[in-house]
Amino acid sequence: MKRYVIIGNSTAAAGCIEGIRQSDRDGTVTVISKEPYHIYSRPLISYLMNGKTDLERMKYRPDDFYQKNRVTTILGQEAAKIDAQNQFVLLENGQGIPYDELLVATGSRPFIPPMEGIKKVEHPFTFMTLDDAKQLQQKITPDSRVLIIGAGLIGLKCAEGILGQVKKITVVDLSDRILSSILDVEGSKRVQEHLEEKGLVFYLSDSVLSFEAGSVALKSGGTVPFDILVIAVGVRPNTELVSEAGGEVNRGIVINSHCKTTLPHVYAAGDCVESFDITTGQNRVLALLPNAYLQGETAGLFMAGNEQESLPLFPMNAMGLMGLHMITAGSYEGEPMLIQDGDTYQKLFIRDGVLKGYILIGDIKRAGIYTSLIREQTPLDEIEFEQMKLHPQLIALSKQKRKQVLAQPH
Ligand SMILES: Cc1cc2nc3c(=O)[nH]c(=O)nc-3n(C[C@H](O)[C@H](O)[C@H](O)COP(=O)(O)OP(=O)(O)OC[C@H]3O[C@@H](n4cnc5c(N)ncnc54)[C@H](O)[C@@H]3O)c2cc1C
Repeated sequence: MKRYVIIGNSTAAAGCIEGIRQSDRDGTVTVISKEPYHIYSRPLISYLMNGKTDLERMKYRPDDFYQKNRVTTILGQEAAKIDAQNQFVLLENGQGIPYDELLVATGSRPFIPPMEGIKKVEHPFTFMTLDDAKQLQQKITPDSRVLIIGAGLIGLKCAEGILGQVKKITVVDLSDRILSSILDVEGSKRVQEHLEEKGLVFYLSDSVLSFEAGSVALKSGGTVPFDILVIAVGVRPNTELVSEAGGEVNRGIVINSHCKTTLPHVYAAGDCVESFDITTGQNRVLALLPNAYLQGETAGLFMAGNEQESLPLFPMNAMGLMGLHMITAGSYEGEPMLIQDGDTYQKLFIRDGVLKGYILIGDIKRAGIYTSLIREQTPLDEIEFEQMKLHPQLIALSKQKRKQVLAQPH
């Protein structure tokens, strides 16, 4: 009977548990997690704050998930070390947990850059965990002026969570545009305008010169008074357990297509690893929920001895921000093709005859079809792509059938 151990209790861990149990009902599974909670959906912490969800509904799996999958949980405990030679995990309380197969699913942590005068700020918040959301919720009042450093996904999700509950939200970012890692210039402008209509104030191409108690001086010369500071400038993968055990780490933990690290019997998945992005042909950290699940599941299948072809991965982000929906995927290299109509903004990126990426803002109905074109790397000349943009549902039909349908007047 195999002993499986998983460090982390989030998306990648869920994938791994479900991957293992697809074929091994007998082995023991132990989950170790620093956070003391039942597995929850991390992206929902902003909806918890604005009341669109609650602790019960944000559970990522039902209450009987561990019991049904025969999982032993060690919650509220940090794994301090992996002894890869003797195959056990050392907990911070000194207990050793032996394993036959281990998954490292430790995710990432907020990056806090050095900023002058930061010590003068009583409690700088971050926005990654349920505890972060609970603490921030306790602190905000209708009179709070909140300063968010970082106009990326996490900073803006935090803004969404507190909108309407505070007096003012100001967002500062070094970049000249918001959501710069997933949107192009025009897309960012549209989303920014939407958020400004909701009351957010942006200082872009700007950064912190120094903090004073209750205010920040910006490099542009401006001063912004604030009561609450949230730092959301980026995340760093939690790789130390693997690097200290002698495993290979670049920006994230290095894994092969089976999600196996360079250490024997040690796998890794999710935000802590580097993955192969099929749209750029390069390894990068793809800190996104669907990838974490798929990698966790792949790892679980292999840990249980199943040969399984791993799914091609690429960045993909589906997000609602204060009522505006957007989905982005892949890389933005190659020929851009713009479809613009009223509130809708769609840009497709085509290189070497295949779809490499897209940005959809407003009308996101075609995302599933475009995503499968990227995943399959379907040559676009095989599929009357110009027609497909007008009638994307046709991708479900055979080439012959599509021709028939397209021949009919619409
Ligand atoms: C506010 C917010 C909004 C987001 N929105 C989106 C979105 O719209 N779309 C999307 O795709 N993704 C989104 N994400 C990202 C998504 O949540 C992550 O990609 C996903 O949670 C990664 O899962 P994971 O299992 O790899 O790691 P994590 O969810 O980070 O979990 C890792 C777990 O491991 C634990 N851990 C770490 N080190 C140790 C240790 N030494 N011992 C024990 N336990 C340890 C941590 O405490 C944590 O519980 C969002 C994230 C945030 C914070």
